[in-house]
This record gives sequence, C-alpha cells and structure tokens, in this order.
Amino acid sequence: MQRVRWVFAGQLGPEFDDGGPMLLIESRAAFGRRRMHRAKAHVILSSIRHRAAELGSRVEFHQVNTYGEVVDGRDDLEVIDPTSYQARRAVRARGIPVLPSRGFITSEADFAAWAGGRGQRRLLLEDFYRAARVRTGILMDGREPAGGQWNYDHDNREPAPKGALTLGVDEPWWPEEDDIDAGVRADLDRWHTEGIVQLVGDDVPRRFAVTPAEAQLALDRFIGGRLPTFGPFEDAALTDDWTMAHSLLSVPMNLGVLDPRQVVDAAEAAYRSGNAPLSSVEGFVRQIMGWRDYVWNLYWHLGEPYRDSNNVLRATTPLPREFVELDFATIQANCLRHTMHGVHERGWSHHIQRLMIIGNWALQRGYDPAALSQWFMDMFVDGTPWVMAVNVVGMSQHADGGVVATKPYASGGAYIDRMTDYCAGCRFNPKVRLGPTACPYTAGYWAFLDRVEPALRGNQRMAQPLAGLARLSDREAVVAQERQREGL
Ligand SMILES: Cc1cc2nc3c(=O)[nH]c(=O)nc-3n(C[C@H](O)[C@H](O)[C@H](O)COP(=O)(O)OP(=O)(O)OC[C@H]3O[C@@H](n4cnc5c(N)ncnc54)[C@H](O)[C@@H]3O)c2cc1C
Ligand code: SF4
Repeated sequence: MQRVRWVFAGQLGPEFDDGGPMLLIESRAAFGRRRMHRAKAHVILSSIRHRAAELGSRVEFHQVNTYGEVVDGRDDLEVIDPTSYQARRAVRARGIPVLPSRGFITSEADFAAWAGGRGQRRLLLEDFYRAARVRTGILMDGREPAGGQWNYDHDNREPAPKGALTLGVDEPWWPEEDDIDAGVRADLDRWHTEGIVQLVGDDVPRRFAVTPAEAQLALDRFIGGRLPTFGPFEDAALTDDWTMAHSLLSVPMNLGVLDPRQVVDAAEAAYRSGNAPLSSVEGFVRQIMGWRDYVWNLYWHLGEPYRDSNNVLRATTPLPREFVELDFATIQANCLRHTMHGVHERGWSHHIQRLMIIGNWALQRGYDPAALSQWFMDMFVDGTPWVMAVNVVGMSQHADGGVVATKPYASGGAYIDRMTDYCAGCRFNPKVRLGPTACPYTAGYWAFLDRVEPALRGNQRMAQPLAGLARLSDREAVVAQERQREGL
C-alpha cells in the first residue's frame, strides 16, 4: 500500500515530498489556542494554502477545526517526524509510521553520535559546529577550515556605523501578495471578528517568503547583495534600518520551504567565487549549521520539561501589558520602544534586538521564562517550540543555571549605546544609573545583579561583575529606584 504522507507546517517544501500522495490539514483550532501575531498566522496559512495549490491533485487538502476530524481512524498515513513534542505525541498516539526528521543539516542521529562521544564535556556550540563542518566538508579545505581559521567573530561584531542612518545594502527581496494571501487576510478578519482567533499586531503586506519559489528569490537577493555586509554588522542596530544585513530567511527555513543546506551551499559558493568575504560567509554559515541546528538538536536532547521547569533565578514577574498586547507607544526606553514597535508591525526583529533589547530587559526584570518563551513563540513570525528552549530559557534568561550558557546575557546601557544609535534619541542616558535620566538598562543591570547575587555567587564568570556590584557606592539607592520604577 502506498502511504499518504501527512505533512505539517514546517514541512511545506520539496524536501518533505518523495513524490507520493500527500495530506495537508489546516486546523483552525491550532490558531485559536492563544493570542497570536497576525503576521505569524498569515505566513503559516499562506504557506499551507500555497503548498496545497502547488501539489494540486496529489494532495488531499482539508480546512477543518481539528486534525482529528481528518486523521482519526485512518491507517494509510505516514509522517516525517514533526518538529514539536506535542505533534510527535499526537502521531505516535495514533500509531502512524514515522520517518526520520528532515530540514536540518545535522540529523538527530548525527547529533546523538556527537553528544554520545563527549563524555562529561559540555555540549559546546563551537565544538558542535566544527564537528558539523568536518562531517559535511562545508567551508573546509581538506581537513582544515577554509582560510585556516574556524571563527571570524573578531572581524564581525562591529558597532553600527557612526552617523549612518542605514547600512546602505541592497533591499531584501519582498513578496508580492496574491489571491491566496487575500483569502488568508479575509479569513483572519472573519475569524477574529467571530472570536475564533485572537490576533495582535499590524495587518501589513506579507514580508517573508512562504513558497519554495519565493524562498529562492529571497535567498538569491541575500547572497547577491547583502551577505558581504552580514558579518560585520550582525550584532548592530540602527533605528532607520530594520533589516540591517540580515537574511529574513528564518521563516522559509522554519516552514520547510527552504532547505538550510541549500542556503549554506549558496553562501559558500559566494565565498569560493570571490563574491563575499570569508568572515561574513563564515559568520552566516555559523548561524545556520551552527546555531540553528544546535538549538534544534538540544531541544530534543534537553527534553520536554526543560522549557517550563527551569527557573533557577526565580523569575516570576508576569509579562506586562505592553508585551502581551504589543502596546509599544507608552514605552519610554527608546531602544525597547523601537524594537517593540517593529514586533508590532512585523512580528519580527533581528537577533540582537531579541537578545540585547527584549531578552535583556526581561532578564533584568525577572519575567517568568516559560511565559516569555510562549510570548516569543506566539509573537514572532518564525516562532517555533524547538527554538525557544535554548534561545529563551537558556541563552537569554539563564533560567537553566548554566546548561546552555555559562553566564547570563545581561548588559547595561553602555553596550547598547556602543552597538546601536538608539541612545541619542532617548530621554535616558546610558551612563547614568541614578536620578530622572537613569537608563533602565544600566540601573536595571545593577538591580538584577543585586537580586540574583545569591544564585550566581559560585559562578567564576560572574566574579568580576559581582565584585563591581560590591563596590557600587549607591547600590541601595539604585536598587530602590528600579524597584519603584513605573512603566516600561
Ligand atoms: C530570545 C530569542 C528568540 C528567538 N526566537 C526565534 C524564533 O522564534 N525562531 C527562529 O527561527 N529564531 C529565533 N531566534 C534566533 C534568531 O534571532 C532568528 O533566527 C533571526 O533573528 C531570524 O532573522 P533572519 O532570518 O534575518 O536571521 P539572520 O540573522 O539572517 O541569520 C540567518 C539564520 O540563522 C539562523 N539562526 C541564527 N541564530 C539563531 C539562533 N540563535 N537560533 C536558531 N536559529 C538561528 C536562523 O535560521 C536565521 O534565519 C531567537 C533568538 C533569541 C535570542
Ligand atoms: S539610554 Fe538606555 S533606555 Fe535609552 S536607548 Fe539607551 S540603553 Fe535604551
């Protein structure tokens, strides 16, 4: 019997299609569980419907309330292992045959072999990434890394260019919406009015690729015009340049319409043909076959309870209304208001805004890490469960006490001032920690250290910051000020 392959959002490209009959289900219930950014709901629905149109008569396409309405009682299905614990449970509970997952460069089996060989050593990103380069030959010259170096971080990480409004690189590729998008928009409006979904954020034209053909165009534009500038400014931010030199490819990769191997091969080809410097290409490849694959594999390795059961810094502050409703207008911290405005408008911000502006803010104020993970998942167009464990719980909130990162990613306003142009337009001063112009990140940094000091005392990498805290002449006043600070 030829089985019908049931594919999920996350498996919507050719890599998940071996030519047989297919099943696609658009479940309304999946959108109605929680408040969700409109742009996120749009890219998922648009991608599913475009895929159904592409597959034509080879697909059974159902638009229903729940998956169960279509799959319960069937014994002719198969799946490629889906991307969340919840979905994996659902398919296994129904006894559906499961093929190994796809869509990543390092398979779960390869990761298990690598992790199993580590003994007691930490599962470090750098080691994982180098092993993947050796295994795949990507950016390798024989047994040596291309250019003789594994890591070009020192060439990257430049601050935003002083006085520049934008990086001046080519525009990203932008999609043109079609009738399918119009249908999605109309359905979302209707579902919202009928209370079937709770949407937040702007309704603006779709900005992310949702089909394989669109993803190819987005990739070509990035490689051709933007990749050379990616590396130096990957950690910088400019008020008037919301994309900087980022690729905007997380959405098509996470939808499964763009194969990450194709992306890194294209980046390597740009280096080999002299069209992009190795430092930028390596920095970009590191994000995908390093970070993306690492985060994916650790999601499974760390186990399902990792996300919600880790809270070593005892962070229990509920998310404020400004986060929940994406109400950026009254936020006083310029960097945070600008970033949240971007999230409201697009359901996206670039990496350093997620980490240094939003994550750092939440860490300092002790937002509940599980609630924050859920928020990132629902409010970002590329939000998926597997991304949250390492990025939010581990890296950004240090809720696991050092499993993923050896110290919390906390920084004061001085670092934000160095890497961005936000402070010039702010009513606060990044150098001031006390008084009406005290920067909430600078003062918040010290108040955070004061609060979590007992939990971090044994951490060698925190010895210097904690010594700085001990020397702080106005420590009590700063802590009291931040405790009483109202609003964001
Ligand atoms: C708090 C926080 C939340 C995040 N939430 C998400 C999320 O929901 N979905 C998501 O895909 N990424 C997430 N990231 C990672 C990263 O910020 C986004 O992948 C990136 O900003 C997407 O924009 P881009 O495609 O232009 O990326 P680029 O800057 O162009 O990077 C290229 C690609 O590298 C991959 N990548 C880079 N860093 C990471 C990382 N840390 N983890 C996983 N993949 C990475 C992405 O696939 C990305 O498309 C998060 C990071 C942090 C710190
Ligand atoms: S002064 Fe502080 S709050 Fe204002 S933009 Fe700079 S870092 Fe952000």
